[in-house]
Amino acid sequence: MRKVTRREMLGQSLAAAAGLPLLARQAEGDQTPGTKPKPLKIVVAGAHPDDPESGCGGTIALYTDLGHEVSILYLTRGEAGIRGKSAPEAAAIRTAESQKACAILKAKPVFAGQIDGNTEINRARYDEFRAVLDAEHPDIVFTHWPIDTHRDHRAASLLVYDAWVAAHKAFDLYYFEVEQGTQTQLFHPTNYVDITKTADRKRAACFAHASQDPEGWYRLHDKMNQFRGMEAGCELGEGFVRHCQNPELSVPLR
Ligand SMILES: [Zn+2]
Repeated sequence: MRKVTRREMLGQSLAAAAGLPLLARQAEGDQTPGTKPKPLKIVVAGAHPDDPESGCGGTIALYTDLGHEVSILYLTRGEAGIRGKSAPEAAAIRTAESQKACAILKAKPVFAGQIDGNTEINRARYDEFRAVLDAEHPDIVFTHWPIDTHRDHRAASLLVYDAWVAAHKAFDLYYFEVEQGTQTQLFHPTNYVDITKTADRKRAACFAHASQDPEGWYRLHDKMNQFRGMEAGCELGEGFVRHCQNPELSVPLR
């Protein structure tokens, strides 16, 4: 087992104070006096527009406030998500909503090119998705927990997992939850982030997806934020599962 250096311990305690998973290598690298540490590159990958925002929006806002770079990677453009609209019409509306949500969170939208309700997992799709993810050069990736009632959510999770294995686990992998109980199931967080300060922006980013009746589904996320906050000892929280084979000494938050 590798010995933890004093600098790493300092980096971990600072990261813990911020309430975010930060990598030990950030604490070690680029730390010459007078220079700013290199920002982390974070990718939050979800199946549909509104999934990354609802599962991870408070944490995304915390990261971007700290100067880190976040890309929101949407597997689809929500082509099947608006009744009475054709797939291209729905995709155009939901792409614009995603761009609005990303602007609120100061994140960059990226689209992986699959179709809502018809996502595929096969050799070609694994390779295609991996190329999109690798192009972002992530230090940390968040995605759906794989046990989920929605097929597209399961597809997104497995595509990320396959890319992580193919990349020899070169980035840290975390899972988020959406609509706990009705979609995500059997999810027990290993890590929590205090999102009390950014919950308003998370809500605004979710409500940017106006075509999706956010008044209806966000009520559950309000309860989830409160419950994870209660578990973590803060007002509002987000819970994550950290893959135990992550490459670096990511910070245990609690
Ligand atoms: Zn979804």
